[in-house]
Amino acid sequence: MATPKKMATPKRKSAGAAPRASVPASSKVATVRKSTAPERVTAILDELQRLYPDVQCALNHRNAWELTVATILSAQCTDVRVNLVTPALFRAFPTPRAMATASLPELEELVRTTGFFRNKAKNIRGAAQVVTEKFGGKVPQTMEEMLQLPGVARKTANVVLGSWYGIASGVVVDTHVLRISRRLGLTRQTTPEKVEADLKRLLPQQRWVQFSHEVIHHGRAVCVARKPRCAECTLEPLCQAKDKTWHSA
Ligand code: SF4
Repeated sequence: MATPKKMATPKRKSAGAAPRASVPASSKVATVRKSTAPERVTAILDELQRLYPDVQCALNHRNAWELTVATILSAQCTDVRVNLVTPALFRAFPTPRAMATASLPELEELVRTTGFFRNKAKNIRGAAQVVTEKFGGKVPQTMEEMLQLPGVARKTANVVLGSWYGIASGVVVDTHVLRISRRLGLTRQTTPEKVEADLKRLLPQQRWVQFSHEVIHHGRAVCVARKPRCAECTLEPLCQAKDKTWHSA
């Protein structure tokens, strides 16, 4: 599928780095195979950072509002698909104020291909109304306020607060982060909320935002859902997946 022209992303310097998971693991990885948990977590973080330096959010956006909308649309949908839809959506309704008064059928048509389009259209218009009426047209910068926007749960709030505002309010737990955190043995939980709580306890706060970006890249490039490419994964010495029954499920 063709990649659309990329919107400017002023908060970051460069586009997402190409995955480099097949490069040899650093010597540090090999030496901590049997080490204690904190050392293993540090080694995982170091290796992820080495593999995916400068990664960023894959959803194209130019401001906090666009990232909020794009993240709402990304539920049960690929980022590539969302990036195909948002240019026309933001041409038609460039601001929260404009989207707040949009007709639902028009919005539905614009976001139709992202799936669950009726709900999503209702949510993005509702979010536009709350941002306009309650927050003066600006996406708020706290978790508590973000959660007042229709269609926004912790994941979307963490994406916007972390990727745009640079506020590490939590760890984004999407399907990749949930799956790989379990495979790596960072959590045994099965719900995003509980996985996030485990990750917040384990990871230093300054790594919360980038960790998610890195793991999402790893989930797309190497640790895919059905058949993870463990033979080419440099995290393998640190990974506990092979000991888990859910790994082959
Ligand atoms: S070793 Fe396999 S299961 Fe573990 S992170 Fe790498 S690809 Fe995923």
